[in-house]
This record gives sequence, structure tokens and C-alpha cells, in this order.
Amino acid sequence: MAKVLVVGGAGYVGSACSAWLLDQGHRVWVLDDLSTGHRSALLGEGFTHARAGDSAAVRALFSREKFDCVMHFAARSLVGESVLKPQEYFENNVTQTALLLDEMIRAGIRRFIFSSTCAIFGNPGNQKISEHLPKAPMSPYGETKLNAEALLADCAKNQGLHAVALRYFNASGAEAQLRVGEKHDPETHLIPNVLKAVLEDRPVSVFGNDYPTPDGTCVRDYIYVSDLAAAHEAAMKRILARPAQDPKNGLFEVFNLGSESGYSVLEIIQTCEKVTGKKIKITHVERRPGDPPRLVADSALARRELGFKVRADSLNQIISTAWDWEQKKKDS
Ligand code: UDP
Repeated sequence: MAKVLVVGGAGYVGSACSAWLLDQGHRVWVLDDLSTGHRSALLGEGFTHARAGDSAAVRALFSREKFDCVMHFAARSLVGESVLKPQEYFENNVTQTALLLDEMIRAGIRRFIFSSTCAIFGNPGNQKISEHLPKAPMSPYGETKLNAEALLADCAKNQGLHAVALRYFNASGAEAQLRVGEKHDPETHLIPNVLKAVLEDRPVSVFGNDYPTPDGTCVRDYIYVSDLAAAHEAAMKRILARPAQDPKNGLFEVFNLGSESGYSVLEIIQTCEKVTGKKIKITHVERRPGDPPRLVADSALARRELGFKVRADSLNQIISTAWDWEQKKKDS
């Protein structure tokens, strides 16, 4: 069993991952600045209220607690917002990561799992997206994650870091016990927005209906958040199984994590209708800037190397748990 520092553990994917790690018997400590995360999402045995790059706080924590691995989820992650605030995105997603890594290396912690994204690929057309496709981010968000990956590669080469970047497609759903789930303010993501529209009995805005896709709306690969969490644990076990740390011999690996199935915005809305039993009204509006028509993963490498699995009937699981979670949020 490992003792894990979950940086950004008050956020959506970080908290789902904490829940998963605890259920598997690992020990979890969260570090988060609560800028976008929620105190109510904190799980585990301890919490440090600080930014990832708060060197004094991180150094003090590392001197008190011994961690086997650091998982880093804390980031700004909205494509549209990143276009308007590139400095904020680079500062949060690159500079803060560099400062965190600096303290890790100083403390002799060389196991690191990093949240990356399919946004580093830009618009790769109709093919499924495997790890080796060209990287051409269309937004500062994607650029920051690509920059952070480059940093990890350098730390692996020169400082003995064992790092894995997991490139998520569209993380969605709530973990089965509904301890934690998606809670953004403002909410921009499709599934929670559709379900909120159902609860509030208002129409859903569909951004663009003239994309080169079968029904004209964007196609995405929705991956269940607890399947992502399981992949984090598998990646951690993989790097913990390596022989004693040699400062000259680290390794950086990347895996694309998606369900490998694509669903259009309209197909998601139809599935939400089935799960909720409610008819959903649609308003067609302009395209949202920065949205590529189609992003679907090829996760063969993760399946082979991490034993990554997508649960059967993933989309139903995603939307059913997301619906339960939205109702729980409304009632609390
Ligand atoms: N979308 C939409 N209406 C909404 C929210 C999202 O039509 O209220 C579309 C969005 O333009 C994109 C897809 O749904 O094509 C998925 O968007 P989301 O923000 O959930 O994830 P992204 O793929 O941007 O990370």
C-alpha cells in the first residue's frame, strides 16, 4: 500500500481519485488551495491548504510526512478561459508544477503522476488519437499541459524522476458512492449542464450544428471518472515497482485515456433523456471557439501496459451517476 500526496484533491478528478485510492487501501493526503475545489470534497487522513508551488508549505509537509508518490491534478482546465487568460494558465499549470517538482526532487520523492489532456493534440481529424500523433494544441490550456509534459521528460532524463502523464479525454460521471462528483462554478461541461437544465426545466444550448460529423455536432470520448482513477492507481503501481531510484535513470511515459467510443452532443442529450425520463429542449447556438469537431482516444497502449479497462455500458454509468449526483447536490 502506498502513501500518496494528491495535489488538487479537492477538485473533480482529484477527489474521485482519492476516493478510489482509499477504497483500494492506500493512504491519501490532499494539498489544495481551494481556488476551484471544494472543502466538502476532501478525503483522506490529512489536508494542507496551499498552492502546488508554495515551496515553504510543500517543503514543511515533505519534512513531516513521507510520500511514496505525488499525483498532481491541480490546474486551470477550461479551454475558452485559457484563451482569455493565458498568463494565469501558464502560471498555474506550468510554473506551479515546476515548483512542486523542485520540492519533490529536493525531498527525494521521484514518483509522479500528472493529469494531462487530449487538448495537446489540437484537431487531429477523424482518426482515433494514439500517443504518437502530432501535438498541435489549439489553446493555451493545451499548450500549458504540453509544456508541463516536456518538463517531466527533462526531469526524468536528468533528475531521475519516474513520471507518467495521463492524457484524459472527457472525464465524466460521479463515483458510485456519490461521495464526490463534478461541481464547477460556472459549469461549462456538457453532461452536468444538460442534467442541470433538466432539473431547472430550461433548454440546453448546443454549440454548433454544422461540424463535419454525422449529425453536425461535436463528437467526444466520455470516460468514466472512476475508470480514470483506476488508471492512476495502475500507473502508480507501475512506477513503484521499479528498482531503487537512480538519479540518472528516470523514465517519463504517457498514456491516452478514453473509452475509444465517440458520442455527439445530440447523442449525449438523447441518453440524458433516457436516463432522466424527461424530454429535453434544445437551442442551437453558435460554435464555441476552440472546439475541434471530433476527439476520440486510441487507448490500446494503456489497455496493454496499465490494464486500463472501461466499464461495460460506460455511457449509461456515466450519465446515471452524474444524474444521481446532480440530484444529491440540489437536495443538499
Ligand atoms: N457543449 C454544448 N453545450 C454545453 C456544453 C458543451 O454543446 O452547454 C459541447 C461543446 O461545445 C463540446 C462538447 O459539448 O463540443 C463537450 O464539451 P465539454 O465542455 O463538456 O468538454 P470539452 O470537450 O470542451 O473538454
